[in-house]
Amino acid sequence: MSLFSNKVIACGKLTGKFAEVPKEAQEVLTLALGLFCKLQGKKPQWRNLRITQVARGIDSQARMIALCLQRDGCTVYENQEAITEIKSLKDKSQQSIANKIRTQIERGCYVSKHLTNRGVDVGTGWESQFENYKTLVDSLATIISEMSYTVGKKTYKPIVINKRHGTGPHLHINFPPYGFNPKKCPGSS
Ligand SMILES: [Zn+2]
Repeated sequence: MSLFSNKVIACGKLTGKFAEVPKEAQEVLTLALGLFCKLQGKKPQWRNLRITQVARGIDSQARMIALCLQRDGCTVYENQEAITEIKSLKDKSQQSIANKIRTQIERGCYVSKHLTNRGVDVGTGWESQFENYKTLVDSLATIISEMSYTVGKKTYKPIVINKRHGTGPHLHINFPPYGFNPKKCPGSS
């Protein structure tokens, strides 16, 4: 039942920051686009997948955290230990948060998978003009989350989260293994 043996030709292209995506994740997204095209029948409206974000710089990560601290306390982040450390900063300026993120990374603590290339965003905003937009986004999310891939000798599945905040509607996809514990901040007390 491996989807990898089931070669499906995509109807469109993978655009944006696709080149930054890890190889096994590129394969997953390529096959997913093929299946997504097939699902849409003879005249697919949604032909391309735009990779809007892969690895993010520390400064832009710090800017996002400064904003979400004011909005909701950054509940969206899986690594709440890392968020708690940032919340304990007296100076919550973007610069100060960036410095904290830098020292966290040195300890193997990553507040976001986007600080590495294991977090990948697929934009879904532009397609909102399409008929059945919501159903299409849900189908795309399901297709991607049902894929599997191997790293080393282990099999993994992408983790897909449908997001509407921040830089606009997108599917945030985590591609384990991360090389760090996504929930922990080593060295925090
Ligand atoms: Zn993301």
